[in-house]
Amino acid sequence: MADTKYIFVTGGVTSSLGKGIIAASLAKLLQARGYKVTIQKLDPYINVDPGTLNPYEHGECYVTDDGAETDLDLGHYERFLNEKTSQANNVTTGRIYQSVIEKERRGEFLGKTVQVIPHITNEIKERIQMLGKSGEYDIVITEIGGTVGDIESLPYIESVRQLMWELGDNNAIVIHLTLVPFLSAAGELKTKPTQHSVKTLMESGIKADILVCRTEHELSDDLREKLALFCNVRREAVIQSIDASTIYDVPNLMLKEGLDTVALKKLNLSDEKFPDLEKWNAFLDRHKNPKHEITIGLVGKYVELQDSYKSILEAFIHAGAKNEVRVNIETIHSEYIDNTTIKNKISHLDGVLVAPGFGERGIEGKINTVKYVREHKIPFLGICLGMQMAVIEFARNVLGLKDANSTEMNETTPHPVIDLMEAQKEITDKGGTMRLGAWKCSLKEGSLAQRVYGQESIMERHRHRYEFNDKYKEQTEAAGLKATGLNPDTGLVEVVELPEHPWFVGVQYHPEYKSTVANPHPLFVAFVKAALKYSQEEKSATLA
Ligand code: GLN
Repeated sequence: MADTKYIFVTGGVTSSLGKGIIAASLAKLLQARGYKVTIQKLDPYINVDPGTLNPYEHGECYVTDDGAETDLDLGHYERFLNEKTSQANNVTTGRIYQSVIEKERRGEFLGKTVQVIPHITNEIKERIQMLGKSGEYDIVITEIGGTVGDIESLPYIESVRQLMWELGDNNAIVIHLTLVPFLSAAGELKTKPTQHSVKTLMESGIKADILVCRTEHELSDDLREKLALFCNVRREAVIQSIDASTIYDVPNLMLKEGLDTVALKKLNLSDEKFPDLEKWNAFLDRHKNPKHEITIGLVGKYVELQDSYKSILEAFIHAGAKNEVRVNIETIHSEYIDNTTIKNKISHLDGVLVAPGFGERGIEGKINTVKYVREHKIPFLGICLGMQMAVIEFARNVLGLKDANSTEMNETTPHPVIDLMEAQKEITDKGGTMRLGAWKCSLKEGSLAQRVYGQESIMERHRHRYEFNDKYKEQTEAAGLKATGLNPDTGLVEVVELPEHPWFVGVQYHPEYKSTVANPHPLFVAFVKAALKYSQEEKSATLA
């Protein structure tokens, strides 16, 4: 008998139903009942990881402590559970094939013809069970990306079918997430797409144990009966997932619907201990009842798709709740910021975050933004590329190094204040070759960063190639932009700040990845606090 229990989450009817949020919410409830839970995402695309994907394709690339570039759903898992994920929590078809092909090249298949079944499915099953076999978890929730019936998810669905059989009753269950659309012309919710989706799953040999139905309207008792009968699930296993005003409401909604109890019963696990959601609900309470309101500008070039900056937006929610402040985010496309538009776009804001990014597009707008907030003393947080832009702006406008730039944008700049490290110069592959994952940083005693963190030694996650060029450090510091965070082993600059500005911090790493509901990130908390202060005191003083 298997020790670890498995929950598979599949999706039907359409994509974007929020499988990740359902999986994370269920995990939260199980964790709140005292179970050790982790979540894994299987992605059916052929990229080895999402690191090489444009954010417009699948949204933000989430980075784990161990340096894995992963799907943004892992961010939800960490934010909900306050537990770290790793490379093992995200597997793509590309990675599966890469591993199988490498084994084939090493001769590990002993002359056999290598096929989808059994070689690819075995590899998938192994990846699914890897987390379970670590002995660390009572329950592993595996979310299968895509929609049932997709050609590319077939090997995953087949692997789930085999595992259900191998693990045996009460050791694994399938939750199928579907959409129950409302036809306004008929004034009715329709169950047929769900019936078809369950049928498609059945054709692959999988019977859903629980149906989670996404809907804009309450499901009536009759409709639930109908779904149960035609989809072959128990009446209590038809779970309604109604649109929520915030994703953080979903665990409570699922608790009310009994998703966790049905799952536990089917897995033969105790549901006696009621979930302890006290801290979670205290957060929700603060999030929903703010005492103040501020507006932060998020300057980036992927602003059309909100998912591109998912972790940043969520970090503001956590930090807002902590400060009992409603944080409105105004996304501003850096490409449309120039000398004529800047005042209009920035002057009313209470704080500005210049976002991470790659490539040249929109960087002049970011540099202009930094100049404006530096001169007008508006609270500023620059993340990764945002920090690099702050260094470039300072070099150009304070040090007078005209045309200072990053060699990422201009290889022949006379002043490469941001440059590649030697080790990076030899690398030509794009996938997985950046400085990735958690690195140590030592903060200067008494600096704003050190006061914000309340400690001198921190670990933060990275995802970049270019670095502050040490050759310009002395000059930059002498003119007022201080390097207050350094990698203790390499001396690389991790944090810059302007002591004579009320709140101006640039960080080479990504604090947003580590912000969770239980542990809002200190930098975001302090930034929101500074923006609130600015909105209440300095801003009006400037206007007066
Ligand atoms: N493009 C920059 C670099 O590679 C910054 C990356 C980022 O913002 N994540 O260094």
